[in-house]
Amino acid sequence: MPVYEYFCRKCEKPFTATMHVAEHETEVPECPTCGRKEEVERWMSSFTAKTSRKSTGY
Ligand SMILES: [Zn+2]
Repeated sequence: MPVYEYFCRKCEKPFTATMHVAEHETEVPECPTCGRKEEVERWMSSFTAKTSRKSTGY
C-alpha cells in the first residue's frame, strides 16, 4: 500500500499513513497525536498541491 502524507491542523504536525488508494480517495486517517479526523488534511508535498490547498491560513 502506498504511504500518504497528512497534516493535522489542530496539532500543526504532519504525519504519514499507509492506506489503500480507495481509502485515500474517500477518507482521512485519524491523527496519531490527537486521534481526530476533523482537522486532518492531505499533505501532498511531492505534488504541486500547495497552490490548490484548501483554506489553511497560508
Ligand atoms: Zn492532531
